[in-house]
Amino acid sequence: MRTESRLPSGYPDSYYAATAVGQREYPSLAGAERADVCVIGGGFTGLSAALNLAERGLNVIVLEAERIGFGASGRCGGLIGSGQRKDVLETEAVFGLARSRQLWDLAEQAKDEIRYRVKKHDIHCDLQNGQLVGVHKKSYQGWPQELTEALAQRYDYPFCQMLDAEQTQQRVAASGFLEALYDSHALTLHPLNFTLGLAGAAADAGVRIFERSRVTNYTRRDPAHIETSHGSVTATFVVLACNGYLDKLESRVAGKIMPINNFMLATEPLGEDRAREIINGRFGVHDTRFVVDYFRLSDDHRLLFGGGENYRYDFPPDIGRFVRKYMLRLFPQLQDAAIDYAWGGTLSVTVNRLPHIGKLKPNLYYAQGYSGHGISIAILAGKVIAEAIAGTAEKFDVLAGLPTHTFPGGTHLRYPGMVLAMLYYTIKDRL
Ligand SMILES: Cc1cc2nc3c(=O)[nH]c(=O)nc-3n(C[C@H](O)[C@H](O)[C@H](O)COP(=O)(O)OP(=O)(O)OC[C@H]3O[C@@H](n4cnc5c(N)ncnc54)[C@H](O)[C@@H]3O)c2cc1C
Repeated sequence: MRTESRLPSGYPDSYYAATAVGQREYPSLAGAERADVCVIGGGFTGLSAALNLAERGLNVIVLEAERIGFGASGRCGGLIGSGQRKDVLETEAVFGLARSRQLWDLAEQAKDEIRYRVKKHDIHCDLQNGQLVGVHKKSYQGWPQELTEALAQRYDYPFCQMLDAEQTQQRVAASGFLEALYDSHALTLHPLNFTLGLAGAAADAGVRIFERSRVTNYTRRDPAHIETSHGSVTATFVVLACNGYLDKLESRVAGKIMPINNFMLATEPLGEDRAREIINGRFGVHDTRFVVDYFRLSDDHRLLFGGGENYRYDFPPDIGRFVRKYMLRLFPQLQDAAIDYAWGGTLSVTVNRLPHIGKLKPNLYYAQGYSGHGISIAILAGKVIAEAIAGTAEKFDVLAGLPTHTFPGGTHLRYPGMVLAMLYYTIKDRL
């Protein structure tokens, strides 16, 4: 068992769990069920797939090992950046303009899908606009301007601007930002409430959700037979949506991802005035570090701050202390702010930081490895898998066609290699 305190509800003791709305209790699977599609995992990927499938008239079951949103979806920073994890300057250099544009357009559709779902299902998840990316290192100066111009000229996206050091400081009182990129059409939200809202919408659309129903095994046949400790599902299609929590369930995709732990804290409420001195708005902020610092204000004027990672099974014993040092590096003025909540979560990264989406068999789909850019891309992945199962695979094929690599050392030896690589980039960041 991980070193994290869990509430009686089964969620980690996080700011999000403390402010959750729209929570429903779903039963555990008991006995034998039948469905067109069995989705394994109740986060953004699984719920987006389930909801979109149910709306197309399919009979869907979701099996979640713990509680809905127990994984990264209910614990994450809530920052929804535009585009893919790699910016368009990078995707253009690797894939050329046409394919890079395709990937950008899909990511824009993901943001549209989020806005649409929040509105359609009246999900109370504090959806806000804007994201500032603070440049922490001289050699990255010029990148905000270059990206702003590329997006405006080649991607029909005129919503970014470059901020100089003084303009940046007016918006975010963080130490050491040399300049920034501000994207007024990026988003932020309360991730657990969004996840719970998606689950409620899926249940209302007819999806049968089972919590505390860990899948222990499934057959790769058609139809597939999926087993939990107290029940089973026979389904024509399976969607594997376990991401960083996949563990040993599917060895054929496990080696393509590296599960990593990332950590967050929530300060005490700072009061509106002090909070606004820290960040002058409700937009999200992150820096350009390899192990990124990310933060935003909550609607009750706390600083929600994410920083620091580890690459092992366990979490640090005192997560608040672990994250606080990253927060104080940027905001020494918060020395006296009490930490009310601190928690961690597991996400998965891929070698090239592009998502790993595809099918292992005609009836077995998977999506994972969003590399810290998961809110929008997981929502997109779930939707395109639903479309593919319903017969339209055009967008799925674009994502499934992205190059993938196996981590050196496979599932056994990937950790030592990763630790060395991370150490290298962290040191490089400091130079
Ligand atoms: C601390 C942190 C901060 C982050 N910040 C951001 C951010 O600001 N912006 C951003 O875009 N992304 C962020 N991410 C990444 C993002 O949260 C993830 O990419 C995204 O939530 C992945 O969604 P998912 O549904 O694929 O996986 P998850 O939400 O992890 O869901 C997987 C689910 O599968 C379940 N499961 C696993 N095995 C089984 C099984 N055998 N049977 C049944 N169920 C099973 C798990 O219990 C879990 O609930 C962050 C991640 C973390 C951890």
